[in-house]
Amino acid sequence: MRCPNRLLRAAIVILVFCAVSCAKETKIPVSDPNSNDSTVATAPTTTKVAGGTTTSTHSSQSPVVQSNPDNSTPYNGCCATQNVIIIVMDGPRYSETWGDYTFANIPNEFALYGHGVMLANFRNLGTTNTDSGHDAICTGNYENLENTGQVLPMYPSIFQEFLKATGKPAEKAWVVASKDKLQILANCQTAGWANQYMPRADCGINGLFSGYRSDDTTFVHSERVLATYHPNLMLINFKDPDVHGHSSDWPGYIAAIKKTDEYIKQIYDFVENDNVYRGKTTFIITNDHGRHLPNVADGFISHGDGCDGCRHIGFLGLGPDFQQGIGFDTPYEQVDISATVAKLLHFNMDYGQGKVITDIFR
Ligand SMILES: [Zn+2]
Ligand SMILES: [Zn+2]
Repeated sequence: MRCPNRLLRAAIVILVFCAVSCAKETKIPVSDPNSNDSTVATAPTTTKVAGGTTTSTHSSQSPVVQSNPDNSTPYNGCCATQNVIIIVMDGPRYSETWGDYTFANIPNEFALYGHGVMLANFRNLGTTNTDSGHDAICTGNYENLENTGQVLPMYPSIFQEFLKATGKPAEKAWVVASKDKLQILANCQTAGWANQYMPRADCGINGLFSGYRSDDTTFVHSERVLATYHPNLMLINFKDPDVHGHSSDWPGYIAAIKKTDEYIKQIYDFVENDNVYRGKTTFIITNDHGRHLPNVADGFISHGDGCDGCRHIGFLGLGPDFQQGIGFDTPYEQVDISATVAKLLHFNMDYGQGKVITDIFR
């Protein structure tokens, strides 16, 4: 009877080896940046071990994006999500958000990270302006859009695709933005979609070409829309980090990032305390673009080129179908948001170029 024992031992050794070497990711501890303990705040990164190769979070290699995404992969139990809320903090640089490992400017998002998943190599690989960035998020296409609201996106957005697929009324999808020009996200140019399946929009003072309004107004309107209509799909834009950046107002820029971070926490708490939304709602918190690196052009004041300051943006996902307290340095990009939202809410992006962000799912 020694032979079976030996076989058993061999089987156990193989199992243990597999458990260690086949692990796909390494969970990283989440520490509170406000705590007084002497632990150094953990970088919001994990190591994703793919094919046995550990990639560094701080790798300077340019993102490699798969060109043939397989969106057909079934996820266990996916998806419990019935609602998706995208919050766009307009134009902070990564070095002042997730790239600052004290997380001094985004303490609320960092605390939420314990319940969610972040991407440390997430980029806008298209035009790094506001309209184009939001267009990429919503339609899954990089277009070099005129940036004052004169031109509609070419292709249908997540909002139009969702409303068409579900037959739900317009009030179940919303764009709420401090910048009036983002009203363009409610429509597109493609035949068969133009002026159809349009979401409700509440942008700027009173819609397109009416001027920007305060983020505080947008915050109040966002909560009102959530409470009144319980949309299944919503994008919220807060403008102030970008506006203060353009004004060359560094203290105002930092204060605006902190204030937006507070709005994010308040909206998250509002949703999690709402009986309709609780446990069924996914948040994606991201940016439309960053800003120039310190040694590029006028630095934090402007954006719009291909420098990594403009490209590197944040991604924090929170929801019932996502992992928790973990980060990945797998390269993903802005157009991948639409494919991921479509996966969560069970519709197709007929024209989207993105791929599902598979790493972040449970
Ligand atoms: Zn912007
Ligand atoms: Zn730049």
